[in-house]
Amino acid sequence: MHPRLTTDLAELPSLLEATRLQAAEMLGRLDEQPVVPPLRAPAPEPLPEEGAGLAATLAEFARTWAPLFSASAGPRYLGFVTGGVTPAALAGDWLTAAADQNPASALDGAAPELERRTIAWLRDLFGLGAAHEGTFVSGATMSNTVGLAIAREWLGQRAGVSVAEEGAAALGRVTVLSGSPHSSIAKGLSMLGLGRTALIPVPTVQGREAVDPVALERALTQVEGPCVVVANAGTVNTVDYDDLRAITALRERHDFWLHVDAAFGGFAALSPDHADLVAGLDAADSICIDLHKWLNVPYDSAVQFTRHQDLQVRVFQNAAAYLGPLGETPDHVHLTPENSRRLRALAAWFTLRAYGRDGHREIVERNIACACALGQAIKTIPGLRLLAPVRLNVVCFTLAEDPTAERLADLAAALAEEAFLTPTTYAGVPALRAAFSNWRTTQIDVHRITEALKGSLDRLS
Ligand SMILES: *Cc1c(COP(=O)(O)O)cnc(C)c1O
Repeated sequence: MHPRLTTDLAELPSLLEATRLQAAEMLGRLDEQPVVPPLRAPAPEPLPEEGAGLAATLAEFARTWAPLFSASAGPRYLGFVTGGVTPAALAGDWLTAAADQNPASALDGAAPELERRTIAWLRDLFGLGAAHEGTFVSGATMSNTVGLAIAREWLGQRAGVSVAEEGAAALGRVTVLSGSPHSSIAKGLSMLGLGRTALIPVPTVQGREAVDPVALERALTQVEGPCVVVANAGTVNTVDYDDLRAITALRERHDFWLHVDAAFGGFAALSPDHADLVAGLDAADSICIDLHKWLNVPYDSAVQFTRHQDLQVRVFQNAAAYLGPLGETPDHVHLTPENSRRLRALAAWFTLRAYGRDGHREIVERNIACACALGQAIKTIPGLRLLAPVRLNVVCFTLAEDPTAERLADLAAALAEEAFLTPTTYAGVPALRAAFSNWRTTQIDVHRITEALKGSLDRLS
């Protein structure tokens, strides 16, 4: 064994303790460090010929890279939709790496079963019935792509061809209808050989991002043969929801696969006051829900659900002599794009075990309350204007006067030490979004953000 490895193996317990202390130190300053640090990086160095050993590497990381990381795990990082990491999720993630399981196949140990049990808990958390089976994937983009891949196989079945065997060309032109799809839908269609132009936008309800069911029915009437509808349960700008029950009712007259992108909006199911937004979710053929957003597990983690695991196996089966037969309960290796992968389920299992449905409901409801409070505060700041009602956990706003992209970028930059908000355009107007999905965020943070907004505005003009 290399001498550095020999030393690190002998000192493993104390090195892990040093790593733990360093992590605790990083987390300890999350609340006070600049949310966005100066954007620079250490000078590049050649690949080390002689390693430094873990102790020296920890020290170097603490000095060089760690101070340049954003406080994305902290309470005022409101860019994109970015959850943090609950204590239990962090412990689960550390132990995932320590145990280094590959849950792809069931030939060794219980890790794949832990993944299935965690999926069952998540199904319950989101109010889905037992017909939905699921797996862990790396994020909502991959979850959407897997859902669309199964939809593609279903379209093939309807047309009497096997896309898995013959390729996407066997299908001809495919139509995917959606009101306000996330950008990852087009990316998924590109990856799947269906093409970005398969995606046909459907008009939304006047002044909203939710699809207009009447316009959707009109579009369905114009499509020849079966197609795919991507419904959106939580749009990124205004957290608007398609009416899932109205869309499901259209299946009486039209033949389509219903995929629901509920990446973060699915968490409305946890709050009795908001669960109605996702009523009808269970009827979907495939569902995407991100876990590294509002479940507050570390990157990278999401779940995909489907009622059609038989079709999923056709797409993703990975037949090899050494992997064993398919069987009644297909191994995960036959269900997702990856073969080998980490046991992502463990972090989710830890946080659900440690805090339960009630703990995670509290996070969701507190985040919603924070978003509402910031929305109220923005209404009282003369230089700012809300662009949409705060429906859930995102506040979309702009400058009351001269809302150019440049001025909004200046405002975001002026805020960046105290809070991170990301730019967007909504209804043609450049804007900023503040998305609340971190378990640490409280009303104290809302107050700090409000004060920072006022201060930055003063400096802006
Ligand atoms: C974040 C998000 C995605 C993409 O998620 P990743 O985890 O970044 O791949 C897809 N759809 C919606 C609605 C999202 O909010």
